[in-house]
Amino acid sequence: MTDPRDRLKQIPGVDQILEKTREDSRFSEIPRSIVLESIRRALEDFRRELLEGKETDLSDSAVLDRAGFIACEKMKPRLVPLINATGVVLHTNLGRALLCEPALDNIRTIARSYSNLELNVSTGKRGIRYSAVEELLCELTGAEKAMAVNNNAGAVFLALNTMAQNTEVVVSRGELVEIGGSFRVPDVMTKSGCILKEVGTTNRTHLRDYANAVTDATGLFLKVHTSNYKIEGFTASVGLKELVELGRDKNIPVMEDLGSGTLVDFSKYGLPSEPLVSDQVGSGADIVTFSGDKLLGGPQAGIIAGKAKYIDQIKANPLTRALRIDKLTLAALEATLRLYRDEPGAIQAIPTLRMLTMSFEETCKRAETLLKLIREKTGSLAEAETADLESRPGGGSFPELKLPTRCVAIRPLTLSVTRLEKGMRASSPPVIARIEEDRYILDPRTLQPEQENSIAQTLESVLKKK
Ligand SMILES: *Cc1c(COP(=O)(O)O)cnc(C)c1O
Repeated sequence: MTDPRDRLKQIPGVDQILEKTREDSRFSEIPRSIVLESIRRALEDFRRELLEGKETDLSDSAVLDRAGFIACEKMKPRLVPLINATGVVLHTNLGRALLCEPALDNIRTIARSYSNLELNVSTGKRGIRYSAVEELLCELTGAEKAMAVNNNAGAVFLALNTMAQNTEVVVSRGELVEIGGSFRVPDVMTKSGCILKEVGTTNRTHLRDYANAVTDATGLFLKVHTSNYKIEGFTASVGLKELVELGRDKNIPVMEDLGSGTLVDFSKYGLPSEPLVSDQVGSGADIVTFSGDKLLGGPQAGIIAGKAKYIDQIKANPLTRALRIDKLTLAALEATLRLYRDEPGAIQAIPTLRMLTMSFEETCKRAETLLKLIREKTGSLAEAETADLESRPGGGSFPELKLPTRCVAIRPLTLSVTRLEKGMRASSPPVIARIEEDRYILDPRTLQPEQENSIAQTLESVLKKK
């Protein structure tokens, strides 16, 4: 074997390869800087392989192939759409809520033109950003005033910082939740400049616990909706109404972080009831906050609704500027909220609501269609059948709830089920699904009808590749 150091000298130079890329159609659409960087990286790879003692092909065409591959990878978009076959409707890792068509249209309309974002067209004077959604939010929730910021974590932070900085905030120990790893009530409390005053126990908190905690330093009673878990058994918690009464008595404002928050009574559609924003506002809470992209089914946003006095203070807080909602989000939020004036229309038009309220019968029909397509494409490569399983709402809404769903279950015959799952994830567009009892499960609840063909095709090609 030749000394690798001698072979290093045979590696072609950057300029020589660069020259060759000029006549190579693979590089014609790629910016020069990327081509150059890709050649350098390809040559470094070759150098490393030689030093490792590999018999690497050093021809110009081998270098061009490698550089072409690297350049193509660099040109691929990083944020890509994918197919969610998990059945988890509000999947935070997969982007939570899908926007409805009117929201998408309105983003386009507002983004490609100048707008009255902060101009009062009738007076010609400076307007207020929140005007686009404030009236609608008040109409839909019964609040005196309302606003929207970047997300619900931001909404909670701003409300705490505005209403209770340097004071004690009384919270039940049963409500000191963590949402998705980065939002923890005690941490948000500290960062917003408040002092956490825990009361009660993990499973039981009584009104007297709140009452006994009150001192001159108390600034706020906070309730947090335990969106993503449920305490069962010997439990007690204090309702918002009782806490509001105590607050009135002691002259302490009351805030509730609703998490998901909904404008639709889901119990009408056979789901457990989640707190309705209008009920919580009606209970007299001074401030309620909730997410725009959980059960509301809109864009990422944090909505703050409540008493005029506190909303005005929050609007005037300089930190609000740092968390302000951008015009694209505002456009999407306004269009989504408008749909809620007609509830049956909203259920059909807002994808999150449509998927959550999809009946078992509907999932059966969808599963049969998908099964047929899959059997046609995959034939003897796999055994496919329907299976009655459960999908989850996800996104910290409806803890414990499982929605009965008919799925398609696939047992691959040419490779293992884990290889199949991996292959589907590596496809374009990637397909995300779960494995249960050694079967690859496709849940139609979160599949869009136009994705069914694409799934069947992807399955065929992954199963054939082995
Ligand atoms: C989801 C959630 C949050 C965080 O909301 P984001 O919109 O994700 O910032 C805060 N509090 C509760 C109770 C939640 O469920």
